[in-house]
Amino acid sequence: MRRVLLKKDVLVALLELSRHLHPNEVIVLLRGKEIKQDIILEEVLLAPASVYGRGFSEFRLDMLPIDFSIIGVAHSHPSGIPTPSVDDLNNMIGRVLVIVVAPYLNEKHIVAYNSKGESLQVVVDVSGS
Ligand SMILES: [Zn+2]
Repeated sequence: MRRVLLKKDVLVALLELSRHLHPNEVIVLLRGKEIKQDIILEEVLLAPASVYGRGFSEFRLDMLPIDFSIIGVAHSHPSGIPTPSVDDLNNMIGRVLVIVVAPYLNEKHIVAYNSKGESLQVVVDVSGS
């Protein structure tokens, strides 16, 4: 099974941003790399011209940096629903779709999916920053 490894900094940033924007949705880009079966998430980037709304969040695709280290997108679900919507999957960028689920307390509130909507195992990488 493919795993998604979250650096501790990434975990903290995702949880704090989601809490801060609640009840609006937050959306961020994820920088990282793939090593064999693992997708490693190393950095959270705020996307250009982001809109954080109630029940939606978006950014300007045409303003995205051309950056091949962007491996996916994370957004929050203030509703607490841990599954991606059809829109989430249709608008997916990169290899991994990460959802931060209310109440955003710890890694149990972070779920990841591939482009087929299949659940990926999320692991916190404690090997260093
Ligand atoms: Zn969503």
